[in-house]
Amino acid sequence: MRLNLNEILEVPGGKLSFRCELDEERLTMPSVAGFSEPPYAEGEVKNSAGALTLTGVIHADMTRVCDRCLCEYGQQLELPVEAKLSATLEDEDDADIYPIAGDGSIDLSDILESSFVLDFDVKSLCKEDCAGLCEHCGANLNEGRCSCKPQTDPRLAVLGQLLDIE
Ligand SMILES: [Zn+2]
Ligand SMILES: [Zn+2]
Repeated sequence: MRLNLNEILEVPGGKLSFRCELDEERLTMPSVAGFSEPPYAEGEVKNSAGALTLTGVIHADMTRVCDRCLCEYGQQLELPVEAKLSATLEDEDDADIYPIAGDGSIDLSDILESSFVLDFDVKSLCKEDCAGLCEHCGANLNEGRCSCKPQTDPRLAVLGQLLDIE
């Protein structure tokens, strides 16, 4: 979706609000199994003394996969977005500044999807203290201990042998 900024481009104090649906395909992340609802963003572009800034929030209702126990859990993410916009070429090297096209429009979807990918917290835990899976039998340790015996750390075993010799 493109947003035409012509009505605020030359108007200090001018504001333009937006609501934009995002393309799930472009928000694909390793720990995201799917979206329960189409992700979208709401916000505004404001002209502050000639400098244009986009602010908003991306709403994503997702099914995620826990890094430790591999279970699926729901997460409702509200990710704040802030981006500077500029029509001048000299700012092109600055990755934080998005270009305004010659016709006064911006590629809103691209800005929002890039921000999502950059700011997304890839760490995925079903809960802070997720116990994960047993590395031997694969049991989910959140559901109770499995019957595997506690393993001795191999480094400690070596140390034990050394102590035996002495
Ligand atoms: Zn987990
Ligand atoms: Zn086990």
